Amino acid sequence: MNRELYGNLIFELSKKGRKGYSLPKSSYDYKTTDLPQQLLRQADADLPECDELTVVRHYTNLSHNNFGVNDGFYPLGSCTMKYNPLINEEIAALKSFAGLHPLQPADTCQWALNVYYDLQKALAELTGLSEFTLNPCAGAHGELTGLMVIRSYHQAHGDERRTKVIIPDSAHGTNPASAAVCGLEVVEVKSMPDGTVDLESLQTLLQEHANEVAAMMMTNPNTVGMFEKRIPEIARLVHDCGGLMYYDGANLNPMLGVARPGDMGFDVMHINLHKTFSTPHGGGGPGCGPVGVRKGLEKYLPTPRVVFQEDLQALTVETNNEDTLGSIGNFFGNFGVMLKAYAYILSLGKEHVKMVGPLATLNANYIKESLKDLYELPIDGVCKHEFVFDGLKDKSTGVTTMDIAKRLLDYGYHAPTIYFPLLFHEAMMIEPTESESKETIDAFIHVMRTIAQEAKERPEVVRTAPHNTPIGRVDDVQAAKQPVLTYQSIIKKCP
Ligand SMILES: *Cc1c(COP(=O)(O)O)cnc(C)c1O
Repeated sequence: MNRELYGNLIFELSKKGRKGYSLPKSSYDYKTTDLPQQLLRQADADLPECDELTVVRHYTNLSHNNFGVNDGFYPLGSCTMKYNPLINEEIAALKSFAGLHPLQPADTCQWALNVYYDLQKALAELTGLSEFTLNPCAGAHGELTGLMVIRSYHQAHGDERRTKVIIPDSAHGTNPASAAVCGLEVVEVKSMPDGTVDLESLQTLLQEHANEVAAMMMTNPNTVGMFEKRIPEIARLVHDCGGLMYYDGANLNPMLGVARPGDMGFDVMHINLHKTFSTPHGGGGPGCGPVGVRKGLEKYLPTPRVVFQEDLQALTVETNNEDTLGSIGNFFGNFGVMLKAYAYILSLGKEHVKMVGPLATLNANYIKESLKDLYELPIDGVCKHEFVFDGLKDKSTGVTTMDIAKRLLDYGYHAPTIYFPLLFHEAMMIEPTESESKETIDAFIHVMRTIAQEAKERPEVVRTAPHNTPIGRVDDVQAAKQPVLTYQSIIKKCP
């Protein structure tokens, strides 16, 4: 890679008058229409001018600065970065799917509606719920949609006072954020030392807010990878108080084919297809956060919905009904993502889907047990798909979780999730997923042990990492507080 020649901003590669194309002179006399003066640019757009090969090399080189699941091990806790099988991509790219128009009449695309409908049914079966909408475009979008369903349900029962949502202190940040966007109020419930919900605190909160509880949001296994064994009791307490149970399905992977949220007493949930069902995520790309509901809540789901119409013996699109909360996005959501998830479910089949959870769990426990002599394990015991270390066990080295995460980059690994959950000071959340071979996992364990050794013998090397990446440590606080997002400003800032 030649960073000098091709690795700069595309604007810096620009040469006045350079073009990547040449069009033959037209022999037609096209009629042109003059646009109103006030709509015209005062000056030409400041666009880069480059030849085609320079553009290709520039973006190819940029792509080499990226790191994805196809490059190496990516143990990013809470994110379920599993392999995205290539067959999914091939199927999603088929012209008969990719060439559809969202306003196309239903009778001209029954094959696509069939996939949509079957995926809704498959998710319902895998989770033990009654019906799903595939419209939400992300997990957080699903949370908002699910909470809107819950709000609609309470409003339909004249229960306007139910505006509080109980959320554990270990929850993902999107939970309280979604509740707030939905106009609901967050009530935090404490965790026990083992990371599970403190039942006594919950009981007290439920008594305190008895007639105001709209729902309780939970992740199970929770963000430290622990299964909430008392979930039936928690669900009973919340239901007795008139609230509904919301399941944040981001951690569904270890339970896939083994246990179902619907059977645990949850009423509404979302799934992250881009986590549990192997579709790519990250970089703000298209996602899908289907929302499922138990029997009785289906009518509140958003439209459009794909439904089977008995009299026509065909699938149709329902765009309105009396109780729906309406549209929550653009048409049907991200259909390409759904196709990939559907291909994944079919390629696993009923038989192999049951192996996802146990293998993800085995891999996580294997790493945890192989490293807990060197890394602080605040919550011991069998975890599910992920677990949390609280930095190095030897606190005398001065090496932090941030340093270890940066040093991992030098060894060619993506860092785990760090400083989340907020329950610990030096949190390092590791999730290997089921996709990895024993060799890959052993190599990662070896590197983690090497870094612990370095921290003891040559702490400077770890504290100043990374050493092998295109850029070293960035000032992430400044990047977050004063982001420079336009080319013009970059020029001004960098003389
Ligand atoms: C990823 C995640 C979410 C949010 O999902 P997005 O698709 O990123 O919006 C919510 N909760 C948990 C526990 C998560 O890990």
